[in-house]
Amino acid sequence: MRNEAAVNRPAPADLLVKDAGHLVVATGPASDDGEEGGIEVPGGWVAVRDGTVCAVGGPADPVPDAARVVSAAGRLVTPGLVNTHHHIYQNLTRSFAPVVNGTLFTWLTGLYPVWARLDEEAAEVSAYVGLAELLLGGCTSSTDHLYVHPRPNLIDAEIRAARAIGFRFHPTRGSMTRGRRDGGLPPDSVVQPPDAVLEDSERLIRTYHDPSPGSMLRIALAPCSPFSVTEEVMRDTAALAETHDVRLHTHLAEDHDEDAYCLETYGCRPVEYFERVGWGSDRAWVAHCVYPNDDELARLAAWGTGVAHCPSSNMLIAHGTARVTRMRELGLPVGLGCDGSASTDAASLWLEARAALTLSRFVNGPGAGLTSRDVLDVATRGSARCLGRPELGTLRVGSPADLVVWHMDDVALAGAHTDPVEAWLRCGPARAHTTVVNGRVLVDGGELALPALPDMLAAHRRISRAWQHAAD
Ligand SMILES: [Zn+2]
Repeated sequence: MRNEAAVNRPAPADLLVKDAGHLVVATGPASDDGEEGGIEVPGGWVAVRDGTVCAVGGPADPVPDAARVVSAAGRLVTPGLVNTHHHIYQNLTRSFAPVVNGTLFTWLTGLYPVWARLDEEAAEVSAYVGLAELLLGGCTSSTDHLYVHPRPNLIDAEIRAARAIGFRFHPTRGSMTRGRRDGGLPPDSVVQPPDAVLEDSERLIRTYHDPSPGSMLRIALAPCSPFSVTEEVMRDTAALAETHDVRLHTHLAEDHDEDAYCLETYGCRPVEYFERVGWGSDRAWVAHCVYPNDDELARLAAWGTGVAHCPSSNMLIAHGTARVTRMRELGLPVGLGCDGSASTDAASLWLEARAALTLSRFVNGPGAGLTSRDVLDVATRGSARCLGRPELGTLRVGSPADLVVWHMDDVALAGAHTDPVEAWLRCGPARAHTTVVNGRVLVDGGELALPALPDMLAAHRRISRAWQHAAD
């Protein structure tokens, strides 16, 4: 005879996050394919098995047994935040004094010679430290745009770090081929011949790219910008991405200097150039996108090109910011990015989310900017769309188990009772209490559960000091 109670009891899970003060399962609004959005469950719980969300419930639902239980009592639980733009190696030159108040172009030209020292050890150590930093800010998957390749196998080194941590990683094979000799911005020592770029791009795809749902590692191709690669490399990279069905990434329309450069060099504006070289598609997502005019924005929307919005970087570079509310109205995928640690300095996606909120209010005026829930949507579902990962950025059953339990009982949140999502973003600074990637707890009780971190930090200090002393 069957035991009804046993039949109804959910199967045991690997991990259970229970008793959440407030659980955000999915941000809103509903998606284009009709998936319900705006699912929030006060008192909710999430169960994880084999790296996947296997059950979600409310306080009245039967809770599964689990090998490990995390109490989220009084805390906010959200999908893990997704980072759509970063240059992790730049954490070796954070707040680098000689260029701290420059324009984008003077900042780049001041730092390129320092970055020319990048080698495998520096790439691995900076990636390990950078990904650890992202975990503390509630980020569970990230891209990285590594476009300086003075030595070989630097992306392989970053991948070693991501795998050692268990981070969901989307490194992009960046490139620069137009050095000073050819009228470009970077010194010739950090640019590569086009054939070397394309061969290495193909090698990385063949060696590492995993297209399966729930993948922990995907490669994308990412010439640095219209002013640092040749037209031929832009075209050949787009063709290679098409052949291997991988995504494309670059900086676009970040600065007025870029408009002037493109008009003089290519005879057209950056977005026109982007289209001309075969990049106008939903395979591409671009960083910044500050200066498209109305017509160009409509074309980007028609293509389905995504935008990585990097508010802190925009404010520090001081050359405007993306029109995020308009982009969302037009249906462009808009995600959040922390950008390189040499321009943004801090790499917390929570901090970027808060900057996105305040900057949007400031730019759009009273009542017209993003809400806290809009920003959470940008940082989770919007970012996941940019990376071509619709299964990320939600906690629906079947999603990869990437989630964050946020502290809500800090001094800074005292008195915030009426809306946990507003409280999370308006109060703070917030750090993750628990960060789970693919079902594994990587931040535990506010501390990184990474045994190699002290050694990595020591190596990071040694390398970054050596770089900066050499630049004195
Ligand atoms: Zn960037």
